Formats: sequence, C-alpha cells, structure tokens
Amino acid sequence: MDKNFEEEQSTGIIKFTPPLYKQRYEFIKDLVGKYKPKKVADLGCADCTLLWMLKFCSCIEVLAGLDICASVMKENMHRLSPLPGDYLQPAERSLTITLHHGSVAHKDPCMLGFDMVTCVELIEHLEESELNKFPEVVFGFMAPSIVVISTPNSEFNALLPGVTLFRHPDHKFEWNQAQFRRWALETARRYDYSVEFTGVGHPPTGMENVGFCTQIGVFARNSLPTTESAQSEKPTEAVYKTVFKAVYPSLKDEKYLQNAVVSEVIFTAQIIKQSLLDCLISEHEEYDDDPTERKSKLQPSVKRFSEDLGNLVVEKSVEPFVNGDVVYIPLTTIFSFHKVNRLCGTFEKLCKFIAGKVTLSSDGSAVVLNTEHKNE
Ligand code: SAH
Repeated sequence: MDKNFEEEQSTGIIKFTPPLYKQRYEFIKDLVGKYKPKKVADLGCADCTLLWMLKFCSCIEVLAGLDICASVMKENMHRLSPLPGDYLQPAERSLTITLHHGSVAHKDPCMLGFDMVTCVELIEHLEESELNKFPEVVFGFMAPSIVVISTPNSEFNALLPGVTLFRHPDHKFEWNQAQFRRWALETARRYDYSVEFTGVGHPPTGMENVGFCTQIGVFARNSLPTTESAQSEKPTEAVYKTVFKAVYPSLKDEKYLQNAVVSEVIFTAQIIKQSLLDCLISEHEEYDDDPTERKSKLQPSVKRFSEDLGNLVVEKSVEPFVNGDVVYIPLTTIFSFHKVNRLCGTFEKLCKFIAGKVTLSSDGSAVVLNTEHKNE
C-alpha cells in the first residue's frame, strides 16, 4: 500500500514522499479536477505556490489569492504573470489572477462569486477573534459551493521529530481529530453545508487511530447558489488592497482571436499554394505543355491533398487555381479547414476578421498570393 511516507528504520523518523505540502496541493488539484470550478480563491495563499499550480487547470477562469502578509505574496507573485508563450498562442479560456492584501476576518465584495475556496494550513494561524469571524466570512458571505480546510492533526505530532508544542511558531493552536470534527460539523450545520473528513500523510501501520498528519475537511454547500441579486445586497465596501492582477491573453478576447484567425488563414493559404505549385511543377514535367491535361490532373491532386490533411468540415465549391504568377485560394476552401472553421465559427466572421489584414481578390472571395515569396 502506498502510504506516501518512508519510515527510516534506524531513527523511526517519518519522512513524507512527496513532501506533505505537495500532497496537500495535489489533493486540492484533484478536487479541482473533480468539481471543475471556474472561480477559485485561496485564502492564506502565502507565496502563491498553490495558485501557481492551479493556473494550469484549464477549467479555472478566475483565481484569487488573499493573505494578511503582503510581502510574502509579493516575493513570488511574478510567477503568476503570463509568459511569452501565452501571448504567442493564446488559450481558449480566459484567465484572470488577482492577489489581495487583507484578512479572512473581514468581508470584501471582491471575494464574492467563487465556486471553490481553499484554506490550506490557514486556520491554525488565526487569533481567536479572527477564527470566530472566519466562518461568517467564508461560509456566510462568500458562500462558495466547495470549501476546503486543512489543518495539522495534533495527534500526529508525537511522530514528528522535534515537535514539542506546535509544528510552527506562528500557530495559535493545533487541534486533534475530535476538536477539528466538532468545529467543522458545527460550522457546516450553521451555514447549511455538508462536510467530509479526510487528510494527507498516512500514519504508520498499526497506528491508524492517530489519523492523517494533515486533517482536511471538504465542505459542500447544500442549498442552491445565491443569485447575483441576493449577493449584491451584501455589504459592498472594499477593504482589501489589490496587490497584483494579471489578465491572460485569451481567444475569448476579439483582439487575440483576430490575430489567431489571420495567422491561421495565412498559414493555410500558404500550404494550399505550395501544394498547388508542387503539383504544377510535377505536371509540367510529366505533360510538358498540354494545359488541359495539366488542369484536369491538378484538381484531383488538390482535392486529395485537402483530404489528406483531414478535418474538412464543409464541401468546397470552388477549387484554388493559379493564374500567371498569382494563386487564388477561395475563402470557402480556407474556411473548410477545421482549425479556421473552429476559430471563426461562421463564414461571416472569417470575412470580418481578415478584412484589411489579408490580400483578397477584387470580389473579396479568395485569398491572393504571389507564386513567388514576395510580399507574403
Ligand atoms: N496556504 C499556504 C500558507 C500557509 S501559512 C500553504 O499551504 O503553504 C498561513 C498563511 O496565512 C500565511 O501566509 C499567513 O500570512 C496567512 N494568514 C495568517 N492570518 C491571516 C488572516 N487573518 N487573513 C489572511 N491570511 C492570513
């Protein structure tokens, strides 16, 4: 059985593999994979490592972090910025990441509308007065569908080397399993949530009653989501300070979509042109100078080429052709290519996106390319 730890025989010291913090983050990632939330807030996000991991989950469109310590967030927040590759190939989904400086003991409207809220090793850092306000802020005010709370299980401490009172000097308390269960069940009851208990960091064989090293409560809201009108009745005064905001390039933004369409149209047209020219050259060699024979041979070649590429989604009405040193590639042909079709959705949108960006024939029905590489 994989227990995610190694017990060193000589010392009896427990070493978790992967490290416990990674197991906690993986646990959250798995939950995101299961519930597919669009909007996730991480409270007590510290150096933003979990947020950084979550930005790769394609279901997420909004990520927010909150911490009472601005400097710890700022240390590594650059990791949350888009990379050059994100601009070169914008994703289909939109993604906005925001970091706020503030306390989980205070309500702020920027924390409304989240589907999932994670609190990884946060509550044991809260003063009693903050812990008392925490459930009303998270479960009453934010009221997401899912809340995940992890906290140390004090029963495991005896198995951890060097731990006397608490695992960290900033911890205000550490609960045993019964204490966490009592608090979680009472909170769930008060705000109409269900809670399931689990954890990461298995105890050694024969000591199962000690429980997980990190205890986790996964809370699921029982009632239907609050409507936007009900949420707007909630207090709206902003108390958090936004310290970071990144809006990722996305094909949902017309500007990036247009760029993507134009690039794809030019790329597709170039491939078609090259195929035509290759055919022409080989036909020329084969039939020397009989144009009728050449054309009849050329058309099936283009068709075959298109079919080879696969993914054609509509029937082509006009075939591409070469006239002198100009290649005409009908927009209908280009639109029939899967990627162009998927990006644009409709033929009208294709025409709109490429207008003024790609050289077209006088009637606007075909992309015009030169047989040479000039001006392309
Ligand atoms: N979630 C992170 C950090 C845990 S340490 C992880 O898993 O590694 C707890 C974090 O909570 C610290 O960064 C601390 O600054 C923050 N914190 C403590 N009190 C807070 C409060 N009242 N509101 C928001 N964040 C708080």
